[in-house]
Amino acid sequence: MLILIYNFHMRNIKLIANYHTHTYRCGHAFGQDEEYVIKAIENKFEILGFSDHVFLPSFSQRHIRGDYELLNDYLISLTKLKVKYSDKIKILKGFECEGLPMYFDYYKELLNKQLVDYLILGNHLSLDDKLNIKSFFYFCENEEKIDEYVETSIKALETKLFKVFAHPDLFLGYIANFDDHIKDKCYELINCAIKLDIPLEINMGGMRQPYFEYQNKRRVKYPTDFFFNLVEKTKANVIIGVDAHSPYDLDYKNVKFLNHFLDKHKKLNLIEKLDI
Ligand SMILES: [Zn+2]
Ligand SMILES: [Zn+2]
Repeated sequence: MLILIYNFHMRNIKLIANYHTHTYRCGHAFGQDEEYVIKAIENKFEILGFSDHVFLPSFSQRHIRGDYELLNDYLISLTKLKVKYSDKIKILKGFECEGLPMYFDYYKELLNKQLVDYLILGNHLSLDDKLNIKSFFYFCENEEKIDEYVETSIKALETKLFKVFAHPDLFLGYIANFDDHIKDKCYELINCAIKLDIPLEINMGGMRQPYFEYQNKRRVKYPTDFFFNLVEKTKANVIIGVDAHSPYDLDYKNVKFLNHFLDKHKKLNLIEKLDI
């Protein structure tokens, strides 16, 4: 793992790599693939990794992810851009994958056949036996769901297929009281990431969402201070993910929120790029 620690004396952070970029194919992102590349170059990124919500065989989820039939189009488009802009930016092909064990072999194949350069884990949901969505982990309103999020995340990370754990604190989105059980569960995730040397993502997508109020406290769903306060107490590596759903997300309009967040968490081991 290549580690470059940011200089925290510089309040205004400069991102040089982003591994979390979506495309219009998922149904809730905007712009053409090339527009993301142009915006990234304008904003002096050296590396732009595309990681659209993974297209899954025999699994359709309208407005959440593109259908499997879009796979070739996605890969061809990114390969063309990779070549066209090779002297200006390093483009990587990837996917943001769900922690669904039935697809682990498929993910492995994407990597083994070198169809993609990397994968990241974004554990948004779980399925029941009939492939119906059982839980959305944005809404972990009870211990059972919290435990399921943590257990399925750890199982997925242990496959070692993923270079980044995207929005690891997604499950804390609507939690009002952070009790000891939740704290223990957070540490399970953090310790797993340390053991496997997988960076935890500070997700800028969450920062772009509106604030909501819980018990007179205003916060975004994620990243959460609670989780990253715990991360700070460990040696876990942390990486920033823009989670771009529009080329404009690669502009610096949201950096003030990021800087504010990093100001509160000065002890994080921030890495600025991966060795892919
Ligand atoms: Zn998305
Ligand atoms: Zn995500």
